[in-house]
Formats: sequence, structure tokens, C-alpha cells
Amino acid sequence: MNIEAVFVDRDGTIGGTGHFIHPKDFSPYSFSRAALQILKDNNIKTFACTNQHRISRGEATLDDFYKEFQSYEFDDAFICPHSLDDDCNCHKPKPGMLFEASKKYK
Ligand SMILES: [Zn+2]
Repeated sequence: MNIEAVFVDRDGTIGGTGHFIHPKDFSPYSFSRAALQILKDNNIKTFACTNQHRISRGEATLDDFYKEFQSYEFDDAFICPHSLDDDCNCHKPKPGMLFEASKKYK
């Protein structure tokens, strides 16, 4: 079996505390960059995949997060910016972001 891509959450997975931290204040764990590099070295795409409902409250922007994920050299990032009341299809554990990635990357 060939693993083609790995979806990686942000808060509490690559760093932070498990709760919202603005990208300008976010610190990755000491091992996160090296772990992502191992995936890249094995030709596995790395996709950040995260719920960030604080975007809907104006506490950060999608661009803040895209820039942050680029700085960790993710191949792409999928972000749900919606509030919990929006009933969108992308808020994890709903599968919308996976479908979006599937469409974009075949
Ligand atoms: Zn959403």
C-alpha cells in the first residue's frame, strides 16, 4: 500500500496547547518539523487540516493560517473557518475538507 498523503491537525498535534492560538503566537513542538520532513522524504504529501472557527469571529484570518502552514512547508492547507452554528460541511469530523482535497489532488 502506498501512502500518498497525510492530513495533519494543528492545535495539539504539531504544536500549541490544543486550543486556539493566533498564528503569530503559535509554536510548533520541537519534533514537528522533522516529522513532517520524514513524510516529505518519503514522497508523501503533507496537508494541514484544521477547524478554526475563531476566523468567523474575526480573531484571525484564513491568510494568517495559510502563511503559517506555508512556513512549516505543508504542501497545502485545508481550513474550516466557520462558526459552530454555520452547520457547514467542512467542520471536522464532517468530511468536507477531505472531499475538497480529493477533488483538488485527484
Ligand atoms: Zn466549515
